Amino acid sequence: MALDSNTWFTEIFQNEGTAFSLQIKQHLHSEQSAYQTLDIYDTETFGKLMVIDGCVMLTQRDNFLYHEMMSHPALFTHRNPKRVVIIGGGDCGTLKEVLKHADVESVIQVDIDERVTRLSEQFFPELCECNEDARASLLFEDGIAWMKNAPDGSADVIIIDSTDPVGPAEGLFATDFYRECNRVLGAGGVIVQQSESPLLHSHTIIKDVQADLLAVGFASVRTLPFPQPVYPTGWWSATMAIKEGDIEAFRKEDSTSRGFKTSYYNEAIHQAALAVPEFMKDLNA
Ligand code: SAM
Repeated sequence: MALDSNTWFTEIFQNEGTAFSLQIKQHLHSEQSAYQTLDIYDTETFGKLMVIDGCVMLTQRDNFLYHEMMSHPALFTHRNPKRVVIIGGGDCGTLKEVLKHADVESVIQVDIDERVTRLSEQFFPELCECNEDARASLLFEDGIAWMKNAPDGSADVIIIDSTDPVGPAEGLFATDFYRECNRVLGAGGVIVQQSESPLLHSHTIIKDVQADLLAVGFASVRTLPFPQPVYPTGWWSATMAIKEGDIEAFRKEDSTSRGFKTSYYNEAIHQAALAVPEFMKDLNA
């Protein structure tokens, strides 16, 4: 069945021989920023859609899955997270989740492309409602260069909320970058990196991310899978590592009594996401 290209947005995953489509009402915006092509659509059933370089970034309907799993497991794994750094994350959905933690004192977000944030403010205001929080600083520069200049031990949690490992984000999936992150994290520091699809990338990207994090000195690493209907295969992952201790030991009681609203994350989801599927057990055995 052929789709009418005027009413459908389709992302083709050539290497996998699959594609994902959303029926659109309107193409609301298109621009070429200094770094990437940015498009905003209004869809029939998933709300507004942001696309970067032809790849789906987020929709209003399902972004909570990604943003909650990129933030809360890491924040409830650190013993006492006060200083958080987000690399990428320009749509500000992860920032909004991090700021729900009352004990967090500062969040520095470093996205290379200011236009992503400005478009999110315009088309996804619900993700940006905490951007004026006094604890948040939004910087627009290369996260790799920023990390090189950050002082030793100056962060408790680093969240790498990046695009796919091509273009400006390629260096965010690299041993040198993780080494800098390890240096910038204080004792007990936790890092989390969006790490693509468990089904497609376990024995390539995910295996490499895990190996690189262990190689630069993190003590324990785990990939947490979660559903993400609009990403390739509908299944995504966050790979988390800790400088000392056990990645499975999280603040379960604090997670249970967290005192803020989530739509997906809770202590049982956190526990369940730590389970390793059989086909991922040999990644860095
Ligand atoms: N949820 C998305 C995903 O998994 O595909 C990621 C969303 S977020 C919009 C990704 C952000 O990473 C983009 O805004 C992009 O500008 C930013 N980014 C890419 N490379 C970067 C770099 N080297 N430094 C800082 N930000 C970067």
